[in-house]
Amino acid sequence: MIRFAMLGSGSRGNATLIEAGNTRVLIDCGFNLGVTEARMQNLGIDPASLAAILVTHEHGDHLGGVARLARRHGIDVWMTAGTYSAWGDRRVESVHQFSPHAGWRIGDLDIQPYPVPHDAREPCQYVLAFGGLRVGILSDAGAVTPHMQQMLSGCDALMLECNHDAALLDAGPYPYSLKQRVGGGFGHLNNEQSAGLLRAVDCSRLQHLVLTHLSETNNRPDLALAAVHHAMDSDASWIVCAHQDEGLAWREVVSA
Ligand SMILES: [Zn+2]
Ligand SMILES: [Zn+2]
Repeated sequence: MIRFAMLGSGSRGNATLIEAGNTRVLIDCGFNLGVTEARMQNLGIDPASLAAILVTHEHGDHLGGVARLARRHGIDVWMTAGTYSAWGDRRVESVHQFSPHAGWRIGDLDIQPYPVPHDAREPCQYVLAFGGLRVGILSDAGAVTPHMQQMLSGCDALMLECNHDAALLDAGPYPYSLKQRVGGGFGHLNNEQSAGLLRAVDCSRLQHLVLTHLSETNNRPDLALAAVHHAMDSDASWIVCAHQDEGLAWREVVSA
C-alpha cells in the first residue's frame, strides 16, 4: 500500500506527504514551520520521521518552508541542481542535487523525477513507486509534453494541477502581464489542459484523482471537477479537489 495526504494546495502553499513500507517523504513545503508542524500533527505524523523532503522548484509556495523544517528536524533535502542554484539558503546541511532525468531510491520508495515547462530554473515533478504501485504528482507546468504524458500514464493515483479556468483568468482581476504568465507555456495548467492530459494517458488503473493548486481567484472546484468528469467520462467519488487550507486527508492506494 502507498498512502498520501496534503497539508495544503494552492498558490499560498503546497506540501504533500507520501509513504510506503517504512519510508515517508514530503514533497515541497510552502508553509511556515508552525503551520507545517500543526498540519502534520493533524495527520498523525512526526516531522522527524520524514526520510526526505523532495522539492519541485524554487517558488515560495513550494520551497518557502523547506529550510526551517529541514534544519529543525534534521531532514535530507533533494532538489535539481538548477533549483539549488536558485535557492538562496545555504544553511541546510544535507542537500542532495540530482538530474531530473534519472531516478533513485529512498528507503522503500522509488523516486522518478521528470522535467516540466515552468518559469523556474530547473523545475521537475515526480512519480513515486512501491510494490508495483505508482503515484504521480504534477503541478506548476505551463504545458503538457509527450514526456510528461509518458511518465503519468498508468498511475494508480494522480495529484494533478487544475490551476485556473481560462475564461475566469481572462475576465479576472489580474494585471495583463500576470495573466500572460499564468496562462502561458511556462505558467500553470488550466482545467482544459489537465482534462486533455487525462484523455491522453492510460487512466485505467486510477484509484484516486486529486485536483490540486486551484487558484482561489481564477478557478472554482465545480469548474475543475466538471472539466475532469467530462474527460474521464465519470463523476466517481474518488475524483476530488485538494483545498488550500484543509489540504487532503490520507488516501490509500492498494494493489488490485
Ligand atoms: Zn506553485
Ligand atoms: Zn511555481
